[in-house]
Amino acid sequence: MLLLVCAAAAAQPPVYWLLWFDTEDYIEPSSDDAALRLAEGLRERGVRATFKIVGEKARVWLARGRHDVIRALAAHDIGYHTEFHSVPPAPAEYLAEMGLLDGAAEFSRRERGGLLLLEKLFGLTPSCYGQPGNSWAPQTNLALREWGVKVYMDDAGQVGFDEQPFWYGGLLYIFNLGRHTVRAELNDAGALEAAKKRFDEAVASARRLGGGVIQTYYHPTEWVTTKFWDGVNFSHGANPERSQWQKPPLRTPESREQAFRIFFEWVDHVRRTPNLRIVTAREAIALFEPRDAAPPAGLARRLAESLDAHEGFSAADLLLSLLGVEPRHVDGPLRRAATTWNEPEIPRPVFDRARRDAAEFVRAHGRLPDAVWLGSHCLSLEDFAATLAADEGGGPVKVRKGRADFERRIGRGAARLYNWVIHPKGFAPESLLEMARLQAWTIKPARLRR
Ligand SMILES: [Zn+2]
Repeated sequence: MLLLVCAAAAAQPPVYWLLWFDTEDYIEPSSDDAALRLAEGLRERGVRATFKIVGEKARVWLARGRHDVIRALAAHDIGYHTEFHSVPPAPAEYLAEMGLLDGAAEFSRRERGGLLLLEKLFGLTPSCYGQPGNSWAPQTNLALREWGVKVYMDDAGQVGFDEQPFWYGGLLYIFNLGRHTVRAELNDAGALEAAKKRFDEAVASARRLGGGVIQTYYHPTEWVTTKFWDGVNFSHGANPERSQWQKPPLRTPESREQAFRIFFEWVDHVRRTPNLRIVTAREAIALFEPRDAAPPAGLARRLAESLDAHEGFSAADLLLSLLGVEPRHVDGPLRRAATTWNEPEIPRPVFDRARRDAAEFVRAHGRLPDAVWLGSHCLSLEDFAATLAADEGGGPVKVRKGRADFERRIGRGAARLYNWVIHPKGFAPESLLEMARLQAWTIKPARLRR
């Protein structure tokens, strides 16, 4: 009987749970005590969480002599959460009018200091990054790769892939998990049973997918304050001097204790879930098949029907395979270009030269070209990829129109997607979503190792 039970448990598809904390409130000192209590309470339960820390938060720990907090968090995984979080300009604000490459350099200039401080304090590179609020921008992917950060972990609507982790811009994205993002409401003990049920439903949903990932996130400051520290000070572009910063209103001691009680009871429920593994962002990478692998022979031809991810390979992976370029991450193009070649066919020697030129471009720049030149005319990247994928060899090459189906993975409507209390009213950076669509050449599901 026991053997049968074990066999049944082993046959269950695996479910992984990530618990993370945006550790950011550098204004209210008692949020440090909350972080400490969470870190210790979880350690006692054998749960390792991921604390995404703001650079300024780490600086105030040093200024306040909170080495106890730093030590307690060191038992968990450490991620990064920008230099100042909500002091304007937020990342999406200063990146909205920049390109991919200059934007990545600017993000590095503004935000790298905090990451270097965390490296010094904790002795290793933070495992992940997530944006403040929903201030997401595609340029950050390039900077994070350069810093050695491998995971983008957060929750917002700009990009997603079927409510499970995915690869995008060369990073593992644990992001936009939809019904697989669950939380227990900290203010209402009566809602605890419903929160446990929501977790169980997310587990069942992940198992139905054949295995999957669930995430839960909080901010330590939620256990001690009733309003967010940044909304109180930096709403809609407000930029008061440091001496004018207001402390957020505090919970009563009873409400604080209740919030801890609810949380740990909920965590205990999660821990008791059979065949569930609790992982950190740093451990998450190893759960998935490697980012860069060679697609099976013939798969790249599917680009002729649809420019999209196919069987776990991105459109960029498949295009590289058609070009004979070894598997590697490459970024998407910088700009959207239109086809200017207006004949139905291309002489084969002209097309062959264009293909060799595209392969050389990819190897030299580490990204896809905006367009591929045929003498002084060109094919858009979409049309080039579709044409190449459909080509059977022989005589002149028939031009095909490509349609970038992968762009459906990018959210629509910047006003809604960037609606965060810290951004200025009416902030709607459509330019970032357009750049995100161009970078969606690289999007593909992250597939769990079997
Ligand atoms: Zn945050």
